[in-house]
Amino acid sequence: LPIVVIAGRPNVGKSTLFNRLVGRRQALVADTPGVTRDRKEAECTVRGRRIRLIDTAGLEESAPDTLYGRMRASSESAVAQADLVVFCIDARAGITPADEHFAAWIRRQGRPVLLVANKAEGRQGAAAAMEAFALGLGTPLAISAEHGEGLSELMGEIADRMPPEAPAEPVVEPPQYGEDGEELDERPPGPLRLAIVGRPNAGKSTLLNRLLGEERMITGPEPGLTRDSVTVLLHDEDGPIQLVDTAGLRRRARVEDGLEKMSTSATIEALKMAEVVVLALDATLGVHEQDLQIARLIEREGRCCVLALNKWDAVEDRIATRQAISDRIETSLAQMRGIPVVSFSALTGANVHKLLPVVRRAHEVWNKRIPTGALNRWFEMMLERHSPPLVGGRRLKLRYMTQAKARPPTFILFGTRAELLPEDYQRYLVNGLREAFDLPGTPIRLLLRGTR
Ligand code: GDP
Repeated sequence: LPIVVIAGRPNVGKSTLFNRLVGRRQALVADTPGVTRDRKEAECTVRGRRIRLIDTAGLEESAPDTLYGRMRASSESAVAQADLVVFCIDARAGITPADEHFAAWIRRQGRPVLLVANKAEGRQGAAAAMEAFALGLGTPLAISAEHGEGLSELMGEIADRMPPEAPAEPVVEPPQYGEDGEELDERPPGPLRLAIVGRPNAGKSTLLNRLLGEERMITGPEPGLTRDSVTVLLHDEDGPIQLVDTAGLRRRARVEDGLEKMSTSATIEALKMAEVVVLALDATLGVHEQDLQIARLIEREGRCCVLALNKWDAVEDRIATRQAISDRIETSLAQMRGIPVVSFSALTGANVHKLLPVVRRAHEVWNKRIPTGALNRWFEMMLERHSPPLVGGRRLKLRYMTQAKARPPTFILFGTRAELLPEDYQRYLVNGLREAFDLPGTPIRLLLRGTR
């Protein structure tokens, strides 16, 4: 971990600052016996970077006789190993001879220094802080550790000065993700969760009724008829499917404008709860820009998508329509290539039975895991077929891949300067993954990890 040392003469507020930076959730405080008896250290996170923070305050009382001697003794070993020295002064007291002496010593150590003028609360404080320019340690940053002022800026400054992060170790085990179900790798128990989304009048309610096998919802050409949100269980021979809150089924908030608005936030809400999303289109109208917008939301949320071409009974030239829609999807939604498409008539019921098997299959794809061995045999073949490109005159060395998680399939690619991999090569790999491992229609995430 990078080491950040808080230094300065006694009473400038080093310990207060230490406690502020470490916060309540400090991971570790080491009280090392001996000379460093009171040296306080903690691991903490500053702007997402883990650091080891050392407070040199505790030593001052126990070290040799003179003030300078005490400061030096407390700081020498710590400063020597510091990636950054946060040098504190007391803005209210102004620059004292002790500050000057200590600053001169710090400068000689040749470590990176961030100058902090503490106790600079309010406007007067900020003005006083400017005096510290005279120390020759750069621009002073005015803060008040006690009042919590300027801390966010300070953390930013510290994080900016940290050495580049060590390359991540190759991930072999799937990493654990946060509490939000979205990132969980394990399939949560319970039935497959499905959402039906789409523009107003695509036929979502009619489809739902059809799937439920009874006229449970009221549908009709008149706006405003659909009732509130629904969460219902569907059963077919393969088991239950839970229809989560289907956005657009509860859209009609503003019917009085005569304009039915699709609520994007409701759509996103439904997407977050769902595993598979059926995007319903009115096939007689072709693909509308708004349909593509919804599809992009689905991809952004990492959900798998099944495209439902409804009102197929009313389509005249079915072959041409199907072709036109497929072309539009392939060109406009490259991120979801191979998206499964089902056409039916919710109104007559024709072919509606084809939908749920496709939904289940999409769900399997979305949950799929590729063994690392097979993945890397394929990867080597891909590298041979097309060498990774030159970047800045040097060829990128791509080493290997691993699947970090499923739902949606997420891969990590390791290699020297891998983070510079151009987009077209990334697409080459993602499209290759889709074909080689049969991952149609699901978003695929490719994360790049540079190693040295
Ligand atoms: P929603 O806004 O997406 O829930 O759409 P609705 O289910 O309310 O349907 C809108 C209109 O399209 C209604 O008049 C339905 O009768 C009609 N509709 C729905 N599905 C079909 C279909 O498969 N074929 C035809 N011809 N009309 C349909």
